[in-house]
Amino acid sequence: MISGKKKILLDLDGVLNEYGETSYDENYIPKIKHGAIDFIRSLSEIGELYLFTSRNLKLTAKWLFENNIDGYFNDITNIKIPSYLYIDDRCVCFKGNYAQTLEEIKNFKVHWQ
Ligand SMILES: [Mg+2]
Repeated sequence: MISGKKKILLDLDGVLNEYGETSYDENYIPKIKHGAIDFIRSLSEIGELYLFTSRNLKLTAKWLFENNIDGYFNDITNIKIPSYLYIDDRCVCFKGNYAQTLEEIKNFKVHWQ
């Protein structure tokens, strides 16, 4: 897809789905999170979306299709392709300060725990 939009990598588990409510199952992707579809729709207006996940490609593609959001994504990838932004529930944003980053790592908690 050719567009002037910047690439945005969007994580699946814990961002787009209700990950964390049940234990991890590699054969099952939890249900879509409330508000996720509106979020994806809005985000797709400003960015070229890529789904970033280490999950099985076919299973992930099926989940996107079943939730009717497959059309918003340019691709599914497990590679951190060069992008403008990465959206993830398990990350710390490095803002140039190592001490501050270490503090954030020590105090880190995912939103669903
Ligand atoms: Mg995640």
